[in-house]
Amino acid sequence: MGSTLFSLLPRFTELMSDSSATPIHIAGGGLAGLLLGIRLRRDGIPVTVSEAGSYPRHRVCGEFMSGAGVDVLRRSGMLDPLLDRGALWGKSAAFYSEHDLLQSFELPEPALCLSRHATDDALAGAFRQLGGNLQEKTRVRDDDMESPGTVRAIGRRRLAEDGGWKWFGLKIHVRDFEIESDLEMHLHRDAYIGACRIEDDRVNLCGLFRSPANEGGKKKLSPVDLLRGLPGSKLFRKTERANFLTETQCAVAGLDLHPRKGVDDACCRIGDALTMIPPLTGNGMSMALESADAAVSPLCEFSNGETGWEETVDTIANRLDHQFSGRLTWAGRIQQSLFSPLARPLLFSIGKMFPSVWSYGFGKTR
Ligand SMILES: Cc1cc2nc3c(=O)[nH]c(=O)nc-3n(C[C@H](O)[C@H](O)[C@H](O)COP(=O)(O)OP(=O)(O)OC[C@H]3O[C@@H](n4cnc5c(N)ncnc54)[C@H](O)[C@@H]3O)c2cc1C
Repeated sequence: MGSTLFSLLPRFTELMSDSSATPIHIAGGGLAGLLLGIRLRRDGIPVTVSEAGSYPRHRVCGEFMSGAGVDVLRRSGMLDPLLDRGALWGKSAAFYSEHDLLQSFELPEPALCLSRHATDDALAGAFRQLGGNLQEKTRVRDDDMESPGTVRAIGRRRLAEDGGWKWFGLKIHVRDFEIESDLEMHLHRDAYIGACRIEDDRVNLCGLFRSPANEGGKKKLSPVDLLRGLPGSKLFRKTERANFLTETQCAVAGLDLHPRKGVDDACCRIGDALTMIPPLTGNGMSMALESADAAVSPLCEFSNGETGWEETVDTIANRLDHQFSGRLTWAGRIQQSLFSPLARPLLFSIGKMFPSVWSYGFGKTR
C-alpha cells in the first residue's frame, strides 16, 4: 500500500505543479540540496538539482546524525525510507583521551546512524520519484550561482591554510572493531576520531586532523594509519583485529571551520555552503537539513511570485543566522580547547571532576 501510494506521488506532484511558478535551481545534491529539493517538490515547485558527483558514493562524514535534523527527516517523510535502508538508532556515547575512557553517557535523544552512501542515495531516489530533475556529474559555475532562484548547497567553503595549520578529514568503514558505545569519540593530539555503529554490522571510522602547513617533505602516514590513532592508544588497540574496507575510504582537505553568517553574503546558501560546525558535535548533517527546512517557505513564496529574490535571500539568511549562532559559538569554543595544548588537559581534568561536562557540551551544540 505504502509503495503504491509512493509510486503515484510523481504524477500527483506533476498535477500539483503550477506551470506559472518560477523554477528553483539547487547547486549541490548533498543532504541540504536534496532535502530542499524533496520539500519543494512536495509543494509542487519545479526544481532542478545539479550535482557535481553521482550516487551512491562514500563521503567523509561521521555518519552520526544528532539534533533537530532527525525530526526534519520525519516531517519530510524521509525517516522511514532511511530506516528501511538499515539506519540504526545510536543511544550511547563515550569520550576517550589517548589512553583513558573520559566519560560514557546515554544520549538525551537517539541519533540516526546510516552511511552517507545509503542516505544520499535514498534522498536522491525520493527526489526523482517526486518528479525532481536531478542532473548528476554536473558542476555549476560560480557565476551561475548568482542568478535569482539559485540556491548554493555546494558543501563546505575551502580554506587552504588556517593559522599555520591544514585541516583535513578521513573516513573508512571497518568490521570487527571493538566498539563499546554506539558512538565513541577518541580525542587525540592534533586529531579526533569518531567510531560509529552503522548498518550492515559495520563501524564508520572518521576523523578530523590537522597538520602543520609547512610540513614539506616529511613522510606522511597512510589514511588507515592516521585513522587508527596514535600507536598504543585505546583506539589503536581496538583496531588491532579490524578489517578495513578500503573501497569505502575517502578524504577531504582544505576545511574551513570558522563560523560564517548568511547576512554577510548576497546569495542564498544552505548547509555547509553557509557555515560548517566543527564535526566533533555530530550536528553538521542536522544543520544541513534544518537549513533546507527553513528555506522552504521563503522559496515557495518567491517561486509563486509573492516576494522578490533579495527579500527571499535576506529572510533565509536571517533565519539561519538566528537559528545557528548559539551552537556555532559553543562548538567553536570546544573545538579550540581540544586543540590547545593548555586548555586540552584542563578540559580533561574538569571532565573527570564533573562528568556531566561532556553531556552538557553535547546539549549546547545542537
Ligand atoms: C571529518 C568530518 C566528520 C563529520 N562527521 C559528521 C557527523 O558525524 N555528523 C554530522 O551530522 N555531520 C558530520 N560532518 C558534517 C557533515 O558531513 C556536513 O555538515 C554535511 O555533509 C553538510 O551537507 P551539505 O549538503 O551542506 O554538503 P555536502 O554533503 O558536502 O554536499 C554538497 C554537494 O555539493 C556538490 N557540489 C560541490 N560543488 C558543486 C558545484 N559547483 N556544482 C554542483 N555540485 C557541487 C558536492 O559534490 C556535494 O555532493 C562531518 C564532516 C567532516 C569533515
